[in-house]
Amino acid sequence: MVASLAPSYPAAFDVSEPLSVISALRAIGFSIVEETVSVMEEVVKIRLQAIGDSNPRSLPLLSSSCSRVTGLIKERYPQLEERLVPRLSPMSLHVRSLKERYGNDCVVVFIGPCTHKRSEAERVAATGGTPPDLVLTFDDLGMYFRKLGFHLASFLPSEPDGETPDWARASVLVDSLSGWNQVIETLANVESAASGHDHGLGSFIEMLACEGGCLSGDGMGSSLTLPLQERQGKIISYFKSMFQCPLRSPL
Ligand code: SF4
Repeated sequence: MVASLAPSYPAAFDVSEPLSVISALRAIGFSIVEETVSVMEEVVKIRLQAIGDSNPRSLPLLSSSCSRVTGLIKERYPQLEERLVPRLSPMSLHVRSLKERYGNDCVVVFIGPCTHKRSEAERVAATGGTPPDLVLTFDDLGMYFRKLGFHLASFLPSEPDGETPDWARASVLVDSLSGWNQVIETLANVESAASGHDHGLGSFIEMLACEGGCLSGDGMGSSLTLPLQERQGKIISYFKSMFQCPLRSPL
């Protein structure tokens, strides 16, 4: 079993050392636990390439990171679908990479803050892509830990597998356009830009359906009772600690 762990995980569990979650996943039976954002370098390269290759009429390009937004585009604004870059979300790119590296026999479980990833997985499967075998939310995982009687604080920390660029761990803090009403309004503007109206919307728009982004996803469990700033603070602490993680071997 291989886990793809979304970057909001350090804010989702009530434990001071997020790396304990990695050990708990290994205790459940995951042989490999990678961070989904390990693909962010590829994502950024694809976006920059697409902006470089674009012409003014094909701008603005749109981020494909939010499953709810991409679902809306596919259902209600299919004419804007070609603007999504990359065509696959970070989750789908990572799952594809995991299957390529570890073989089609491995069971890939995406674990994240969002129930909408399930619909995304269904869409990917319907178009012949490589969906995760299972999508769990952090809420689901927390319930599973409780059923097993796990106390996260009792697990020694362990590092995730794979190569994640340090900066990518902070990508969940990027100040994007967020909130459902903003998304609807922006897509209407992009649609009228696509029909030739002057827009001034820029080259690239990242839209996230949840207010404050994925840290406010509906699968974040009880951490949603914390103020957003506190959840953001947990990501910042994790980001800083991974620069100086004692578990890392010397360069
Ligand atoms: S912003 Fe919300 S709906 Fe969109 S991917 Fe993140 S958690 Fe899911």
